[in-house]
Amino acid sequence: MIAGIDLGGTQVRVAVAAGDGRMIGTAKARTPELGGPAGMVAWARENAERLAAGARIEAVGIGVPGPSDPRSGVLVNPPNLVGWPPGVPLRAMLEEAFGAPVHLENDANLAALAEFKRGAGRGLHNLAYVTWSTGIGAGLILDGRLYSGAHGSAGEVGHMVLDPGGPECFCGQRGCTEAYASGNSIARGAGRPAREVFAAAQAGDPEAAAIVEHAARMVGLALLNLANLVDPEMIILGGGITESWSLVEGWLSEPLLSSPFVTPNRRPRIVRAELGADVGLVGAVEWAIENR
Ligand SMILES: [Zn+2]
Repeated sequence: MIAGIDLGGTQVRVAVAAGDGRMIGTAKARTPELGGPAGMVAWARENAERLAAGARIEAVGIGVPGPSDPRSGVLVNPPNLVGWPPGVPLRAMLEEAFGAPVHLENDANLAALAEFKRGAGRGLHNLAYVTWSTGIGAGLILDGRLYSGAHGSAGEVGHMVLDPGGPECFCGQRGCTEAYASGNSIARGAGRPAREVFAAAQAGDPEAAAIVEHAARMVGLALLNLANLVDPEMIILGGGITESWSLVEGWLSEPLLSSPFVTPNRRPRIVRAELGADVGLVGAVEWAIENR
């Protein structure tokens, strides 16, 4: 059996799967209610063992919110794990609890792996997965392998600088994609939750529609830069934006298709993710299988 864990700031889920990736069962809990790293690890082991029903768990994969260091298995300082201290050695803690090897990766990277193995990118060799929700992140599959970079931070599309004179980003840079288009930035600019802005745009409110168009055009610019850098066959958009796909699809593709630099037939297809809420669990299981 394989265990997969999808750790988020709001919710944590655990899955047990067969060696071929077929899901046996899942469990979930609210992260803040587990009281920190030790409580989360104990909860994950207890539920994985219950779901495995006596079968041995051979390997564990876990997706964590960034920034993390996949090589050391340490969470650096994830801003959305409220109350967790910096520098949690999560891989070591899980290996001790499970008595099995644990493979830790950034959640956006594992979402890319999940869509590559079991979602919209099946059968391809080069793709980028971009998650657009409260934040913006990405994962890269290059030549059939997850590419995480020298320090585990490849694919930080959210902090690609689109205009050095642009608005300040929480990361300290100016003019990042996130500073224009993250759910948090949209909410701050509009004075109401991003979800409401998208709903109003959908209902025909011209002011909300203009905000959404501008955000989507800026993300489209980031996708153009991404395509110029790694030339993927496909760019898969996941996260909350998939619920408003018809609103943004055209704006996202426009910079790529109108760029005179490369003809449109040699550009990546831009598509919506297929795996929905399970993407993190599927990615964690596939990562454990890949590293087994
Ligand atoms: Zn930034």
